[in-house]
Amino acid sequence: MTDITCPNCNVFNNVNDSKCWKCGQPLPNELKEAALQKEQDAKNQEVAAKSAAIEKARETCDWSTVSHADIEKEASNIILTTSFMVAGREIKEEIEIISAECVYGMNIFKDIMASARDFFGGRSATTQKALRDARKTALTELKREALMVGADAVISIDLDYQEMSVGTNQTMVMLVASGTAVKLQ
Ligand SMILES: [Zn+2]
Repeated sequence: MTDITCPNCNVFNNVNDSKCWKCGQPLPNELKEAALQKEQDAKNQEVAAKSAAIEKARETCDWSTVSHADIEKEASNIILTTSFMVAGREIKEEIEIISAECVYGMNIFKDIMASARDFFGGRSATTQKALRDARKTALTELKREALMVGADAVISIDLDYQEMSVGTNQTMVMLVASGTAVKLQ
């Protein structure tokens, strides 16, 4: 909260107040404007510092100075495609192959129910939801990976599901999303 000092009695007042709460003298408009300007400048400076940090991280691939939220936001702009090109964009450089894994468990009861329903020609909502969630998680992770290597997009994405048995009544499914991280023109 921004506050201004009363020129008459030196106490702090809320910037939105028209009169001093203590002495009742009207608070000059110039003081208000100056206080609001200062607040705006601080905000602008913060935004500028943020973008500077992101720009530097992009160049150096060192994201340690960028907040988690900003990394997420930047990563969400990464383009993902199963195609070998990005529509309407030129690929400047292929950086490297990247991958992201997501492992999730499905208990045998769910699996049996799923196969029973599949057997009768229905779709298993539980399995489908689990697979969809896993895919989303893996692709989000892939975007983050891409950002970390300085990419703008990931092309030729391939999703690979691998089933693993863990113990007697637990099945784990591993989803691997991989692709080529590229820099766009
Ligand atoms: Zn006052």
